[in-house]
Amino acid sequence: MIRRPLVAGNWKMCGCRSDIQALVDGVLVGLGGEIAAEVVVCPPAVYLDQVMSQIIGSEIKIAGQNCASAEKGAYTGEVSASMLADVGCQYVIIGHSERRQLFLEQDKTIAEKFKLIQANGMIPILCVGETLEQRQSDNANDVVGGQLEAVIDEVGVNAFFDAVVAYEPVWAIGTGLTATPEQAQEMHAYIRTLVARKESGVAEKLRVLYGGSVKPENARKLFSQSDIDGGLVGGASLEAKKFVAIVKAVI
Ligand code: PEP
Repeated sequence: MIRRPLVAGNWKMCGCRSDIQALVDGVLVGLGGEIAAEVVVCPPAVYLDQVMSQIIGSEIKIAGQNCASAEKGAYTGEVSASMLADVGCQYVIIGHSERRQLFLEQDKTIAEKFKLIQANGMIPILCVGETLEQRQSDNANDVVGGQLEAVIDEVGVNAFFDAVVAYEPVWAIGTGLTATPEQAQEMHAYIRTLVARKESGVAEKLRVLYGGSVKPENARKLFSQSDIDGGLVGGASLEAKKFVAIVKAVI
């Protein structure tokens, strides 16, 4: 296998100490022994340490949901990439559509975060995706390509040797609407082609995850597409049984 599939659970701003303890216990028990996919969970920052202590000795990894675009200093409320690395994160999500839409994050800021994540020895999971309006007006490729190229222009294509891209159509996030496996595959292939035009070796190795209402019922079909290398899962990752079933849909 050139690319080991990855399934990441993005818990967003959900849960409390006890919910999270139960969720991690459920995932650990449910996953059991060997699993084909690499498994990552993305708890709210204040619970990273708690989750880290629960998953020690397992195959599960932890990720930040976001990080600051500055290294350190007077940025009240922010969490730096080095802090995430310090508590054991191996990945950090950046450019999630909720960050782009609600916190007005721009490509340039996202690229800064990308650099800091790698400088601290972690792997960025760069989210890209179009809105429904952009898809309906036939602009999906331009939007997604533009988001990706904006970061590539800042960090260089070779930086994507150690990065993950998550294609998350905004209209499918938390809505129950899922891109069909064919729609998703088409965009994933487009993303890979775009990277291949710059550096084919990077494109071959690059994991492109699908995100947007992934559920146990649709995961296998999505993950069996040739350019879909796993998923970024929101809602369904908050239920251990569902998340485990999604992870096990990678065969
Ligand atoms: C997400 O938040 O990245 C996501 C894909 O959410 P959901 O699975 O709930 O659509």
